[in-house]
Amino acid sequence: MTAKIIDGKAIAEQMRLELKDEIAILRDKGIVPGLGVILVGEDPASVSYVSSKEKACRDIGIFSDDNRLPADTSEQELLALVDRMNKDPKIHGILVQLPLPKHIDENKVLLAISPEKDVDGFHPINVGKMVVGEDAFLPCTPHGVIQLLLRSKVKISGAHVVVVGRSNIVGKPVANMLVQKKDTGNATVTICHTRTQDISYFTKQADILIAAAGKPNMITADMVKDGVVVIDVGVNRVDDPTAKKGYRLVGDVDFDAVKEKASLITPVPGGVGPMTITMLLYNTVRSAVIHSVL
Ligand code: NAP
Repeated sequence: MTAKIIDGKAIAEQMRLELKDEIAILRDKGIVPGLGVILVGEDPASVSYVSSKEKACRDIGIFSDDNRLPADTSEQELLALVDRMNKDPKIHGILVQLPLPKHIDENKVLLAISPEKDVDGFHPINVGKMVVGEDAFLPCTPHGVIQLLLRSKVKISGAHVVVVGRSNIVGKPVANMLVQKKDTGNATVTICHTRTQDISYFTKQADILIAAAGKPNMITADMVKDGVVVIDVGVNRVDDPTAKKGYRLVGDVDFDAVKEKASLITPVPGGVGPMTITMLLYNTVRSAVIHSVL
């Protein structure tokens, strides 16, 4: 069997078109979804992420309030800006790009964002609501994974999903969403991590395998069963002297070998990656709708 590729770029594009239509309707009613973006310092990867997010906002009609602060910004100054955005009715979502410089307490800043504007879904209030199954802003990458499965018509209910990785950003939330008693959940979920003994014992049982370990090509063909659906969240740089930049990006899954056994598989790049920003846009639009009826 050779797997069908789940085209994350195309699915993300489709979702952005749907959001664009929704935003046009909101704008006709005088509601312009707004995202407050804060970047402290000039870390090149963060500058690139933030610029992509800002461009994605502009492309679909979200107003983005872009704030570039110098690396020596004090914690107090940053908290004051977050507070200003919390109170600004034009801003429906607040994004503080991580990591922050070492002299700033990241946790303190994330806690200062109003849970009603926490479009990254990292505030403990939103995490708690997600866990108990209440409506909440869902974290973007795990929510993007669920959307890829749903839009590829993968049956989640009753499936055994094995998640490799237990971070607060990907592994734990995606496992939580999949286990919820909801149409988008009802899976049986196993979470693996570095203390799991014999990971392949579990991965071989997976109907759906979600790899989020950050280890290049750690999931090999002998670790999966025929017909598995594979979602590769990993993004890893590996040296490649033939590439212009001297490196290329690979996932956590040995794509070429595993695609010969899987029924569906996401590539890296072009799988989960494009969904993350899309789900941030989605949360911002949801927030604008919620705020408009408050
Ligand atoms: P992280 O915080 O480093 O967590 C990695 C998790 O994987 C940890 O729970 C770790 O276990 C587990 N792990 C690492 N090596 C393992 C191994 N050999 N066997 C079993 N488990 C192992 O990383 P993250 O933030 O979740 O990100 C994971 C990957 O996804 C990274 O490559 C990251 O770049 C990528 N990512 C992509 C997107 C996107 O938009 N596409 C977004 C976020 C992250 P322990 O807990 O035991 O240490």
